[in-house]
Amino acid sequence: MFKEARIKLTVWYLAIIMTISLSFSGVIYVGVNRELTRLESFQRTRIQGIIRGFPVPVEVSPSLDSDAVAESRARIILILGLINLSILVLSGLGGYFLAGLTLDPIKEMVDKQKEFVSNASHELRTPLTSLTTEIEVALRDKNITLGAAKKLLASNLEEVKKMNNLSSYLLKLNRFENDSSQIEFKQVDLKDIALNAMDKIIPLAAASKVKIVEKLHIAKVRGNEESLTELATILLDNAVKYSKEGGNIEIKTYGMSLEVVDHGIGISEEDIPHIFDRFYRADSSRSKERTDGYGLGLSIAKSIADLNSAGIKVDSKVGRGSTFTVTF
Ligand code: ADP
Repeated sequence: MFKEARIKLTVWYLAIIMTISLSFSGVIYVGVNRELTRLESFQRTRIQGIIRGFPVPVEVSPSLDSDAVAESRARIILILGLINLSILVLSGLGGYFLAGLTLDPIKEMVDKQKEFVSNASHELRTPLTSLTTEIEVALRDKNITLGAAKKLLASNLEEVKKMNNLSSYLLKLNRFENDSSQIEFKQVDLKDIALNAMDKIIPLAAASKVKIVEKLHIAKVRGNEESLTELATILLDNAVKYSKEGGNIEIKTYGMSLEVVDHGIGISEEDIPHIFDRFYRADSSRSKERTDGYGLGLSIAKSIADLNSAGIKVDSKVGRGSTFTVTF
């Protein structure tokens, strides 16, 4: 598909360049030709004047100049033809190269999109397969008890919840990655954002016996309140998820920054460059007891930071913990 598009684009580049080049060549030829005709008639008049005034040998004939002019015309046509041929070859090669450069980022985007769709379908298929299998097995069992049926329904509900989570992640990703023209930006205090995010995470933190310590100072920035709350919630959610039971996490706001610090499992140096990629999960988090997650939280966080013209960075050591900082 992209090879065909590259060739088409090259042909378009060539058509534009050759139209310009041939038009200029035409104008140059007409101008030079006019000059030659003027020179020819000027010389003819001069020679005729000489003939009229003085006796001139017959060999000095005006037709000799006409031959020279015709030859010059032919040469000009040849030179212009050669120039146009060189332009055709050079712009063909250059155009093919430029078309490649133009299409490369689009190809990269399409490849990423394809990878994303295939990852999303894969993540959806896993709970769907498990749901189908469980239901089919239960339907085949003629002596199923009420207790077993309830257990099955509870397990089904878990799978449905997982799919629900995934679809809400996908919707968020789509929302925050698309154009920002519909989103309202105003002055917000990161302290309020942190408090809102904490409200959402406190039940989860309590269930995991993780304490949230707040060190909040006024930090006014220009941004979108709803998306920034989502960003702080994602960071807090991860901090709780990847902390040891009974651990502490801190949320800080100061200057134009928001920081979430945990003392949990940490992230290895090899994983750090990839954690903001969609569907990326470090092996350490997969093998951890709490494996729920799709590797989408931080890519949503990154999209939100971009949307709000903020930067997000991480500082982490395996076994020591991680610090995520959002700076405006
Ligand atoms: P999820 O947490 O659902 O797997 P994220 O996109 O939020 O997805 O995070 C991607 C990966 O980055 C996680 O799987 C985990 O390996 C790592 N990670 C993120 N936050 C932390 C953290 N606070 N401590 C340790 N690892 C983390």
